[in-house]
Amino acid sequence: MRPFAFDTATDSGAAIAIHGGDDRRAYIAGGTTLIDLVKLDVMRPAALIDVSRLPLAEVERLDDGRLRIGAAVTNSELAHHPLVREHYPLLAQAILAGASTQIRNMATTAGNVMQRTRCPYYRDAAAACNRREPGSGCDALHGINRMHAVLGVSEQCIATHPSDMCVALAALGATLTLEGPEGRREIAFNDFHRLPAEHPEIEHELAPGELITHVTLDTPLVGGGAAYLKLRDRASYEFALASAGAVVALEGEVISDVRLALGGVATKPWRAVEAERALDGQPAVASSFEVAADAALQDAVPREHNAFKIPLARQAIVRALRDATARAGTTTTTRGNQG
Ligand code: SF4
Repeated sequence: MRPFAFDTATDSGAAIAIHGGDDRRAYIAGGTTLIDLVKLDVMRPAALIDVSRLPLAEVERLDDGRLRIGAAVTNSELAHHPLVREHYPLLAQAILAGASTQIRNMATTAGNVMQRTRCPYYRDAAAACNRREPGSGCDALHGINRMHAVLGVSEQCIATHPSDMCVALAALGATLTLEGPEGRREIAFNDFHRLPAEHPEIEHELAPGELITHVTLDTPLVGGGAAYLKLRDRASYEFALASAGAVVALEGEVISDVRLALGGVATKPWRAVEAERALDGQPAVASSFEVAADAALQDAVPREHNAFKIPLARQAIVRALRDATARAGTTTTTRGNQG
């Protein structure tokens, strides 16, 4: 591991000033991804700025019904928070499907949004990787690509986004608050992560020196039922081969509103808008779910070892929609619920 400077900030203004928009400096909170990558010589920061003590550890309901989550709230705190459990059970389910208890106790909300791919070639400094070293090539294209993406891919990169939490955020709808040298701004969560296209090394819309201060969830879907299904090689502490997060609201037997997002199969947290369109106003039955799953995967591009992900994701979508439908309207809250 290479030596680096270390600073601690106690408010966002100080953190941003220390960073100074210098891309050799990086913010660190839980460190559950960053420290691994520094040890592997994949990331080589000249300085780390500890932002774990910033006053961003609150979860609060806003007057308009949305839920504002501080960037430093840990994954464990968020998954077990009463407002999340009651109004956003999809988020609680997705977080608890990821990593281990110990990691969830350290990892933060903003850190989860910022986590890097687990592509083994990205994490191997001796391998060719356009994301780590622009223009060097992509060893995954013709290498072992069983865990890689089939949606949102390019000829430059086929790495999956690894987060479970972000699948729930993509489905639920959220806004990120960013603070940086140019002040404060907001961006829709689903516009934050970039597709790899020609420049996989540019992963998100953060400007130099900006940090995420809050994640604000949209108001919950009235009467919705929620389900997160994660399919993986072993039952815990494993990344998804395919996952689906769904929230379904019904009017009688008909789908009146639906949110669907996928994980483990795409290069970014993947909102399945084609599937949502296919489900709008349809009866909540298996045949509708199957049509929607086909719509979600119609543009999938398989590689040598990951073609199995397409039927696997199809099953995950159908089952998540079925389970979410079964839970719709089963409890009541003052503003509707998802469980
Ligand atoms: Fe790098 Fe992306 Fe290729 Fe993996 S898939 S080696 S992250 S360019």
